[in-house]
Amino acid sequence: MAEPTMGHPQAAFVDVYRRTVAALTQLTAAHRFIVAAGAGTLAMEMAVVNALGPGERLLVVSHGLFGDRFAAIAASRGIQVERLTPAGPGQAVSPARLETALKSSRFGAVTVTHVDTSTGVRAPVTSYLPVLAASDALFILDGVCATGGIEEPMPQWGVDLLVTTSQKALGVPPGFALLGLSQRAVRKRTSITGPLGAYYTDILNWLPVMDDPSTYFATPPVNLVVALDRGLKIIAEEGLPARIERHERQGRAMQAAWRALGLVPVPAPGLEAPTLSVLRYPQGVEDGPFRAAAEREGALLAGGVGELKGQVFRVGHMGNVTRGELLAVVAAVECALLQCGYRLQLGSGVGAAQAVLGAPPQPAGHP
Ligand SMILES: *Cc1c(COP(=O)(O)O)cnc(C)c1O
Repeated sequence: MAEPTMGHPQAAFVDVYRRTVAALTQLTAAHRFIVAAGAGTLAMEMAVVNALGPGERLLVVSHGLFGDRFAAIAASRGIQVERLTPAGPGQAVSPARLETALKSSRFGAVTVTHVDTSTGVRAPVTSYLPVLAASDALFILDGVCATGGIEEPMPQWGVDLLVTTSQKALGVPPGFALLGLSQRAVRKRTSITGPLGAYYTDILNWLPVMDDPSTYFATPPVNLVVALDRGLKIIAEEGLPARIERHERQGRAMQAAWRALGLVPVPAPGLEAPTLSVLRYPQGVEDGPFRAAAEREGALLAGGVGELKGQVFRVGHMGNVTRGELLAVVAAVECALLQCGYRLQLGSGVGAAQAVLGAPPQPAGHP
């Protein structure tokens, strides 16, 4: 990103841009893929805008703040929304409830958040697939905290619009609205004939540029595209199956560490995301002092958002993180808990994580 900015019509840059579109199309197995400047939220809006014809309703499966955001986007456009939420944070909507909702009325599209970053819940997507396949509603999947770290094959899952962004499991700086499209999603947008009420987010303005990135619609964020290209190269070198397996293992290691420390995750057993942990504060540990102590130990932890604000802290373990970084975070959490008066045995969390991660691989050429 610190390299001098290329001109966006310059052949060298056009090649880089074309490569990112091709790599993301391949990574997600999308029919078409859009790389636009923005943020994950813009990709969410782009999905809603293009998936619904006039008067069509949206069904939102929400496991937290980011699920609810789809409902807010729809409401801002006057789209009627039905929201399915579980009994409490950390739970998931059952496939039976999704089925009942889809049978009781017509929806243009359904949104599911693959990993809701506010609760750490990984949606039981595969259990929804038969129900979704039996409906003609388009399937919008928010993969922001999953793409590149958790399996989410678009064609096999019947995903029509895959929403994602760069700064989560893809491990690239922020600045992108990334959107994978199925053939059905492109056909759906094409079938909407009146004014869309959107311009920058209209996929019909983007598809020709994705076909030929030497053409102009809106100026791409050149240096960021260079970074995205580099990030996608790192992913390709690791290989997606290996990367998914690594995230699974990392998730198990972190969960083992939290268990050893007596911390309670928000997600119900079996719903914990491999990409981040959301943990309840033990009695007597306060959010502000705890996270300040962790930061002094070198770990930047996120606080709770939405209804969990002040009650939980969040630890990301996605993207190009190393075993050393993961173990350092667990050690920092141990120290911060101790400093906040919580009793634990130093090293017990680190040891539990190490036990899952296994012995570090010997470098090539080691005797
Ligand atoms: C972070 C996040 C978003 C929003 O992405 P921004 O780039 O912050 O707009 C949407 N969905 C999920 C699941 C997220 O984790």
